[in-house]
Amino acid sequence: DETAAQMEALIAEASIERRAVQPLGKKPHYDVLVVGAGFAGSVMAERLARDAGKKVLVVDRRPHIAGNAYDLPNEDGILYHLYGPHIFHTNSEEIFAYLSRFTKWRPYEHRVRAQVGDKLVPMPINRTTLNMLYGLDLKTDEEAEAFLESRAEPVDEIRTSADVVVSKVGRELYETFFQGYTRKQWGMDPSELDKSVTSRVPTRTSTDDRYFTDQFQAMPLDGFTRMFENMLDHPNIELRLGADFDQVRREVTYDKLVFTGPIDEYFGYRYGKLPYRSLQFRHEMIDTEVFQPVAVVNYPAEDTPYTRITEYKYLTGQTAPKTSITYEYPSAEGDPYYPIPRPENQALFKRYEALALAEPDVVFVGRLATYRYYNMDQVVGQALATYRRMKADEDERREA
Ligand code: FAD
Ligand code: UDP
Repeated sequence: DETAAQMEALIAEASIERRAVQPLGKKPHYDVLVVGAGFAGSVMAERLARDAGKKVLVVDRRPHIAGNAYDLPNEDGILYHLYGPHIFHTNSEEIFAYLSRFTKWRPYEHRVRAQVGDKLVPMPINRTTLNMLYGLDLKTDEEAEAFLESRAEPVDEIRTSADVVVSKVGRELYETFFQGYTRKQWGMDPSELDKSVTSRVPTRTSTDDRYFTDQFQAMPLDGFTRMFENMLDHPNIELRLGADFDQVRREVTYDKLVFTGPIDEYFGYRYGKLPYRSLQFRHEMIDTEVFQPVAVVNYPAEDTPYTRITEYKYLTGQTAPKTSITYEYPSAEGDPYYPIPRPENQALFKRYEALALAEPDVVFVGRLATYRYYNMDQVVGQALATYRRMKADEDERREA
């Protein structure tokens, strides 16, 4: 159609211009090319530019920075997260201090309820959850502990995401809260997933109804995207958005590459595709001030097609007569969001990792490039550690 034709003409014009200003045969040179402008790529770029004085080109195939943490205001000015809710939490003082250079914070403790029948109960399971579900009046941690113990089923070796939960709370609570949700989220039964997946969600005997207990829990005051803008705002950093690595690698030269995309894609799927789970998001604006009582309500029932609904006002503290929410529908197709933790996938990743280790002058960082189900803070920690290693290697070479 007409708009598409106009777009193509603009793109063609832009690339002619770009070619015109470059002397024939001389491609622009950078010390480092960083692929991906999410947490992994942006932290690496920031450190390389600001700390090491490197000239860095950051590319992302998406038309924006911040990777999956990208947030933006909708037409009513309410911030929402295009790729699903992102809540920051960490126990690392170093990581929190590092990010604090680029943003102020809004204290926020995340709370989640699960819809079970007609009840909204605290998730993770805590004493209140048990009292509400079973009409009990458990008053102490010890009483709740004894109740859970009476239901728990011993499991010889805790290997899978089913074992972890069943051994702690028994089959009924497992089925109510975990089995259906996990089957939807991952497209497979918890018994087929590594124990690390459901281990992310604790079981409590107290009445603490926070989703996380980390020491630092806060949201970037002006949103994640603004924080990334500040991170990447440096004269040594150039940014090219809407540009694929495959295209850019032919147009520039560089000494080092930092790759934060899927590792199997980098190696042309030589050993086959690494499985990633995707999601489809339904973003809605609701003409009511408050939609639900907490930021996130989980829907563990298998016959509800979505896993959770997020209401952003709780995360941002914004007030407005309307409210923005997002439904998450798990899917096999789409952007790679979640590496799928199970032994055969880890084995396939290890084969790619061996290729990566043999690749000179390329480092692989982030959730997709290291195939790890990492939270944001873990990716920041991984990137900071990777940068330190790069720097130490370079110092060593210079001395030699
Ligand atoms: P990404 O953010 O995926 O960035 C990689 C970037 O590389 C992408 O922008 C991609 O477009 C680009 N790219 C890839 N390949 C190429 C290529 N060939 N050429 C050009 N560009 C390329 N973590 C938390 O701590 N708290 C949460 O509440 C939380 N909620 C989440 C909810 C959802 C639905 C999801 C999916 C994740 C959530 N996370 C959360 C995890 C968090 O999103 C990740 O830890 C973090 O964003 C990973 O950063 P990254 O830089 O490794 O990857
Ligand atoms: N999970 C579940 N029921 C819930 C919440 C979580 O079964 O109500 C399981 C599910 O397998 C999920 C995993 O625990 O993928 C980790 O949950 P988390 O909330 O950490 O997922 P994320 O926010 O990373 O999508």
